[in-house]
Amino acid sequence: ESSKLANFLEVIIDKKGYKEEVQVVKTGCFGFCEKGPIVKVLPDNVFYVEVSPKDAKTIVEEHVIKGRIVQRLLFKEPNKEEKIMFQENMPFYKKQMRIALRNCGLIDPENIEEYIALDGYEALGKVLTEMTPEEVIQVVKDSGLRGRGGGGFSTGLKWELTYRNKSHQKYIVCNADEGDPGAFMDRSILEGDPHSVLEAMAIAGYAIGANKGYIYIRAEYPLAIERLKIAIKQAREYGLLGKNIFGTEFSFDIDIKLGAGAFVCGEETALINSIEGGRGEPNAKPPFPAESGLYDKPTCVNNVETFANIPPIILRGANWYSSIGTEKSKGTKVFALAGKVNNVGLVEVPMGITLREIIYDVGGGIRGNKRIKAVQTGGPSGGCIPEQNLDIPIDYESLNSIGSMMGSGGMIVMDEDDCMVNIAKFYLEFTEEESCGKCTPCRIGNKRLHEILNKITEGKGTEEDLDRLVELGEMIKSSSLCGLGQTSPNPVLSTLKFFRQEYLEHVKNKH
Ligand code: SF4
Repeated sequence: ESSKLANFLEVIIDKKGYKEEVQVVKTGCFGFCEKGPIVKVLPDNVFYVEVSPKDAKTIVEEHVIKGRIVQRLLFKEPNKEEKIMFQENMPFYKKQMRIALRNCGLIDPENIEEYIALDGYEALGKVLTEMTPEEVIQVVKDSGLRGRGGGGFSTGLKWELTYRNKSHQKYIVCNADEGDPGAFMDRSILEGDPHSVLEAMAIAGYAIGANKGYIYIRAEYPLAIERLKIAIKQAREYGLLGKNIFGTEFSFDIDIKLGAGAFVCGEETALINSIEGGRGEPNAKPPFPAESGLYDKPTCVNNVETFANIPPIILRGANWYSSIGTEKSKGTKVFALAGKVNNVGLVEVPMGITLREIIYDVGGGIRGNKRIKAVQTGGPSGGCIPEQNLDIPIDYESLNSIGSMMGSGGMIVMDEDDCMVNIAKFYLEFTEEESCGKCTPCRIGNKRLHEILNKITEGKGTEEDLDRLVELGEMIKSSSLCGLGQTSPNPVLSTLKFFRQEYLEHVKNKH
C-alpha cells in the first residue's frame, strides 16, 4: 500500500511539474503501523497519518506546492482535538528512544549514500584505523549491550570468547530468523536500515578475527532479503565489504542464507546446522559456537537488533550507551506492540521504562476503553504478566522474576474479554507444532500438556489436572535440550500462577 502511494505521489508531482524540485523517497517503517500509510514532508518535518491516494494529491497541491499544512491529516490524540504536526511531539514517539531504529523511516534503505550521509560506515572506519580488536571488544563489553534475540548474554563477552579461540577461519553469523508470532523488529530493521547490520557485522568480524559473515534470514521476508542484497552489492561497490576495507589489511564479506521458517532455527546451533545444509536441529552445548560453530570453526552469532546497536556504540562510546537503562540491562529494546492496544506498532524504549508506560503512554491505552487483563512478553517462550505487575521496570531480570522474559520483543496486550486459558493453548499449539522432535520432554511433553488443556477447555477437566499441568510443565522446562522446550511451558505456568481462577471456572462450570 505504501509503495503504491509513493508511486502515486511521484506521478502527481511529475504532472504538476515539480519533478526537479521535489523528491519522493521510500523509507523503511516509521513504526506507527496503526496510523499508516505515513507521509512526512521535509524540510518542514510535518508528519501526515493514514494517507489515502486522494489525501496524497491534497498534500501535494496544498502543502508541497502552496506551503499550507493539511490540518485534517495530522495526528489527533484520542479523546482530544489536539492535532500534532511533528513526529517527536506525538505521544507515540515521546517516550521512545530510537537507537536500533534510528534510520528507519528516515533514509532510503536502497541508497547507501543516504546511510553514509548519516555517519554510516564511520564506525567501521574508526575501528579499522584507530582501534585494536581488543579495544573494540572492550567498548562493546563496557557498553553493557546484551543479546536482543532473547538470551540476554553479554555481546562483548560473546565476542571476547570467540576472539580468544584461535583459528585461521572464524565466522560471524547474523540471526535474522525472527519467529515469534506477532514480532517484526528484525524485519523492520533489515527493510529500513540494512547497512547498519552489514557495518556491525564487519566490525564484529574485525574484533574477533573473522573474514566471512552469513545472514540467516527466513525466506518469508522477501523485501528484507531484496534490500539486503542491494545493500551488500552497494557496500562491495563502495569498498566497504570485500578486500582491504578502508585500505587496511582487513577483508570481510557477507552471504545470505535463506531459512524455511522453522522457529527452532532461531536457536544458534540449529541455525548453524541449517546453514551447513543439515536438519535445523539444536545440538547439546558445550561446545558453544564461540569454540566450535559453523563448519566446526569459532563462530559468533548475534541477532539483527543486537548488531544494529553496534555502530552508535562505537561512535558515541560505551559510557553513552551504558548511561541508558537499568543497572544490569543497558540501552534500549525494540518491541512489537500488538493486541488490544490503540497504537499498534514498533516501539523502541529505554530499558527500565514500565510496561504501563509502554501500554498507556506509547500505546495509547486499551481499545474501546476496556480494562487491561495481561501482557504477554517474550512470545511463545514468555509468560503472561497480570495488570498488578505493570509497574515493574522492563529489564531482563525483572521480567524473569515474574515468570516471563524479554525474548526477542513480542508484546501482546490482552483485555478483559480474553480467556487466558485459550491464550496459553494458542502458544502451546505453536510450540508443539514447531518442536523439532529431537528430545522427548519437548516432543511428547508438550503434546500431553496440550491434551490436558484441551480437556479443561472442553469442560472435562478436574482440579487435579491443574496440578498435572504444573508438574509436567516444570519437568519439560528442566529436561528439554534447547531453549524452545525449556521455555515452552511458560505461557501455561504463568497463566496458571496469575489467572488460576479462570482455569477453575472452566473446571467448575464445565465449559
Ligand atoms: Fe527440539 Fe524441542 Fe528438544 Fe529443542 S527442546 S531440541 S526444539 S525437541
